Amino acid sequence: MRYSDEIIEEVRSRNDIVDVIGQYVSLKRTGANYVGLCPFHNEKSASFSVSPSKQMFYCFGCRVGGNVFSFLMKYDNLTFGEAVKSLAERGGVKLPDEDESPQAKMMRDKRATLFEINKEAAKYYVYQLKSQHGQKGLEYFKDRALTDETISHFGLGFATVTSDDLVKYLRNKGYSDKLIIEAGLASYDEKYGTHDKFWNRVMFPILDVNSKVIGFGGRVMGDGKPKYLNSPETPIFDKSRNLFGLNYAKNARKGYIIICEGYMDVIAMHQAGFNMAVASLGTAFTSQQASLLKRYTDTVILSYDSDGAGTSAALRGIQLLKEAGLKGKVLNLKPYKDPDEFIKNEGKEAFEERIKKAENPFFFEIEIKRNEYDMSDPASKTEFHRFIGKKLCEFTEAVERENYIEATAQRYSIGVDDLHKLVANMAADGGIVKTSTRPKSGIHSGQIKEPPERKPQRVLITWMADEPGIFTIVNKWVTPKDFTDDLYRDIASTMWTELENGNFDPSRVLDHFTEEDEHREVAELFNTNLVQVDTKDEREKALHDILYEVKKAGYEKQLKEMASDDPERWNFTLQGKRGLEELFKSRIVLDK
Ligand SMILES: [Zn+2]
Repeated sequence: MRYSDEIIEEVRSRNDIVDVIGQYVSLKRTGANYVGLCPFHNEKSASFSVSPSKQMFYCFGCRVGGNVFSFLMKYDNLTFGEAVKSLAERGGVKLPDEDESPQAKMMRDKRATLFEINKEAAKYYVYQLKSQHGQKGLEYFKDRALTDETISHFGLGFATVTSDDLVKYLRNKGYSDKLIIEAGLASYDEKYGTHDKFWNRVMFPILDVNSKVIGFGGRVMGDGKPKYLNSPETPIFDKSRNLFGLNYAKNARKGYIIICEGYMDVIAMHQAGFNMAVASLGTAFTSQQASLLKRYTDTVILSYDSDGAGTSAALRGIQLLKEAGLKGKVLNLKPYKDPDEFIKNEGKEAFEERIKKAENPFFFEIEIKRNEYDMSDPASKTEFHRFIGKKLCEFTEAVERENYIEATAQRYSIGVDDLHKLVANMAADGGIVKTSTRPKSGIHSGQIKEPPERKPQRVLITWMADEPGIFTIVNKWVTPKDFTDDLYRDIASTMWTELENGNFDPSRVLDHFTEEDEHREVAELFNTNLVQVDTKDEREKALHDILYEVKKAGYEKQLKEMASDDPERWNFTLQGKRGLEELFKSRIVLDK
């Protein structure tokens, strides 16, 4: 639901950003700000800054930023509403009762009930594992070398051979058959009535990022079919949007996350200290899972079984990661089949080494492809080289392509010059394939050149946020209309209104925006590196130049947007030019 501005304001004012972020990140005061190690990217020197006066945070390393709400949204993966709720609780603010549609309320109630039922079931399976009936299950886990601590950490359980005891247990707790079936824990048929979906299986509860049970995976004891059975999709369980183990891995903050194939891999890895491991849920890795991971990391290491199916899954995974703008790497576990087996045989340190050596996806793909060609046959070998050439064309950046050409030539003993020629010819033939990742906006992207007029606009906004006192000077020359970018203009309007009313608060400006990307851009706007000028004289000159640039770009843009037969055009041009000239000749005088 959308809360009123007053409520949001109150929640924010009761949660000082330094206190809130200080709970998660160790912050040190330097000058007017606090700095610490960024929780959103892996770094060794602090580039994460929190401003008590602006009530905003910003990372100069990964360019994430926002106010106290955006911090919590990003850190705990919450929606805006959830962040408001959580901070309201922290600050002791009573939120108004939600007014939602009857359908929305019904759906919310139902989801809440389904969460409860799944939680009860998880408790029940844990109980069974510890009981006499669970002996077989416990032995299975012990055979896999899981410790008691790991078993309880992951809430592992057991579904007995009786095919309706969970149903009976849940009925006793007051849940209807209909809900139990809808929770994915039971099925109905005429012969057996309502009966348990899972029986004679060890049970892996599946938790969402907020550690709520949303479903189960069960592995059969003995040779029954199917070997692994998962909960069906339910209103709370969407397989394509969740990852097993992410509730723990999101806090690992190792700078990367490892995706493996199965639950047992994840559990074995966590037990060995690799708590950044996750697994997809009995389906292929999806693009939604890639975007989910993007909230927590920029590098994903794929650790799939080293068989044919695992390899093609890795190739698909690489593509999806690339599309999501994530850096992908591939873990080589040979001669072992999976991480579990590897760690058991070679130990943690060896595994750690393999992580460090995780292969670049480019060479991984080429290695795989190489097996398809017969290197003793010149025609086949040529085909292979053409494949390499085509892959090299995919690098659109010259330096990167150059580096890969060199590395590839060396690795596959191809003449560097020959490979150059091949790539150049293929590129000329239209072999250059554009990669599909495109940042949503060019404002914060280093790759896309931003229009030159934007920088002074950003500097001006940051300067005003740091020193609201300059507003009276700025306002004499520049209006929000002079900002050429839509987002900048929106923010300038809000700033102007608030500064005129004397209640300017940069962190509140963020509440007008709901998207994470927008928060990032706004935070960047308020945290542009100001030119370091010390003397009053230099500062005055710098402000003068910035004002002039902003005003000039604003004038030119507005003129461009006017119809050529607009009767106002002549007047506008005259006034604009006169104003610019006046500003050019004038002297800006600051108090200090
Ligand atoms: Zn960062």
